[in-house]
Amino acid sequence: MIRLEYVWKLSGHKFDNLEKSIAIIPIGSVERHGDHLPLGTDSIEASYIAEEVAKKINAHLFPPIWYGSSIYLQKFPGTINVNSEAFKQYTYSVLKEIARNGYKLIVVINGHGGNTSLLNIAAKEAAYDMNATYIIIDWWKDVGKEARKKLFLEPGHAGDDETSAMLYIEGEDVEMKYAKDYVPPYIPLVSVQSPIIENYLYPKAVLGGPTKANKEKGKEWLDNVINDIVNIINDISKIIGKQ
Ligand SMILES: [Zn+2]
Repeated sequence: MIRLEYVWKLSGHKFDNLEKSIAIIPIGSVERHGDHLPLGTDSIEASYIAEEVAKKINAHLFPPIWYGSSIYLQKFPGTINVNSEAFKQYTYSVLKEIARNGYKLIVVINGHGGNTSLLNIAAKEAAYDMNATYIIIDWWKDVGKEARKKLFLEPGHAGDDETSAMLYIEGEDVEMKYAKDYVPPYIPLVSVQSPIIENYLYPKAVLGGPTKANKEKGKEWLDNVINDIVNIINDISKIIGKQ
């Protein structure tokens, strides 16, 4: 029988005797999130969601990858940026190795926008090299969309939404007295790669209205996110199970 396991806590003997099916791995960043949120926000949120999802579907939880690709906010103290190519290669290796250890479905809970394009390349290559299935979820935008729209007027990096989530998950590490809102007059709706535009969008490593955050909104949003992810995994596992 499959049940929730924290893979890094297992002895080799226990690991040998486990039936392997679904693996979940959180991936985040160590990056400046204004003056009020912890540097590890993206990894902390992704780890929380991954653990809650793993509990609901009895998946095996792998340890997180904390460091991500953070070139946009590299100029702010506290950001640890991993070179894009190195990040892609490293995540490719980790994702491929999880499949080689017997997992057919690997779910990546990604907590950081700078990782998205690289993670998708890494997962695509691993999927076809290993004949495995990878689900990559940008949890703050791919799922729980209606709740996010309903709950938050000024969402964004370290904004109302992300700050609310952190107040719920790890409120003791949030310093709301240092939260400051910043919403630029223009936000591009397409991909723009430009240090000038990034400077304009993130002069203080915040985009949105963190002063409007509270933990009740955070909980409601996260509950929706977790439910949506469980449904997606169930739908995809049914198809894989029939092959
Ligand atoms: Zn973040």
